[in-house]
Amino acid sequence: MTLPSIENTGWRDRLKHMEIPISIKNDKFLLFCLNKIISGERINLSEGLKLYNTQSLPALCALANLIKKSRFSNNIFFNENLHVNTTNKCVLACRFCAFRKGPRHSDAYELSIEEFIHRIKPYSNTIDEIHSVGGLHPQWTVDHYSELYAKIKEVFPHIHVKSLTAVEIKHISSRSGISVLETLKILKNSGLNSIPGGGAEILVDSVRDRICRGKENTSEYLEIHGLAHSLGIPSNCTMLFGTVETVEERLIHLDKLRIQQDKSSGFQCFVPYPFLPDKTRLPEAQLATTCEIVRIIAVSRLMLDNIPHIKAYRMNIGDHVTSLCINSGADDIDGTVGHEEIMHEAGSKTRLDYDKKQLSKIIISSGQKPVKRNSIYSKFEEYTEINNKSIKIPISY
Ligand code: SF4
Repeated sequence: MTLPSIENTGWRDRLKHMEIPISIKNDKFLLFCLNKIISGERINLSEGLKLYNTQSLPALCALANLIKKSRFSNNIFFNENLHVNTTNKCVLACRFCAFRKGPRHSDAYELSIEEFIHRIKPYSNTIDEIHSVGGLHPQWTVDHYSELYAKIKEVFPHIHVKSLTAVEIKHISSRSGISVLETLKILKNSGLNSIPGGGAEILVDSVRDRICRGKENTSEYLEIHGLAHSLGIPSNCTMLFGTVETVEERLIHLDKLRIQQDKSSGFQCFVPYPFLPDKTRLPEAQLATTCEIVRIIAVSRLMLDNIPHIKAYRMNIGDHVTSLCINSGADDIDGTVGHEEIMHEAGSKTRLDYDKKQLSKIIISSGQKPVKRNSIYSKFEEYTEINNKSIKIPISY
């Protein structure tokens, strides 16, 4: 069962006939943007900036929520997944990263394939996705990852493998002496199903030079995702904001993603998340406030007309901000996750013991409908709470 709006069809027609909240009707510029979107025109960079800076945050959120509802009605998606990181050893040292360790560090680790499988086993009856990223291991080549994915598929054939950032793919291809395309083909044949999208940071090279020198540049990030899309490997795309970039650079980032999506159309979901600070990394960071996080979610929904899903990533922003975001344009809160290191090493306190019932509670309390999805948004199950019991009912569109 598929959602018609996932193919980007019909939502503008539905939008045309939806009731417009009074806060939008009373704001000429928001009304202008709404009419532009209805007529299929794109919000440009200067309009995006004006939207981002609007004084009326509730009206901005109402507009983004209206667009979200035209695509997905009251549905908010989640999935049941597990994060397993392959290694925290990394040959790079991005300034925002609290996860990586130098290969000789006493806390550095690398999971053997058996250890990786062992991590999945306790969750294998409840999850249908493994989300796995890691550092740039100094020795591992494509052989290690293809053996890993093949083993996951052998032991847990029902589990979708969502793995590797663009820079990991670039590193593996260079370590293996083969092209990125060849690397992706081998990994896909071994069991890689999709790519999570991490590592986009801000797609402006002068910013990347300050926060993650040595990582793939903007065009490499986009090209690697485009190559994956050309092979039928869908991906997400992300944005790490609140380091040293300007608001204009955040909007340029959105623009670059939608241009890439016009070419390769394999981005399923956009996942923006703010930098989580500590005392040692990036002391000059312009940390994002809660309202900035909400503004980013809302403006993303308005500018990214060709990327269907916008995720409120609760591992990073927590349950409270997530609740705001799913009324401000976001339609997805990610998964049960089970185990998470990257955000928690950076200071996240988001609980890791939530099951689908607790995720549903976040969604229901926001006045919306929890819908469990699979990793590629092609299967959906609705959950509702009756007598404190989470029950499964079929959903129809
Ligand atoms: S963000 Fe990724 S590439 Fe950069 S230091 Fe951390 S693990 Fe390494």
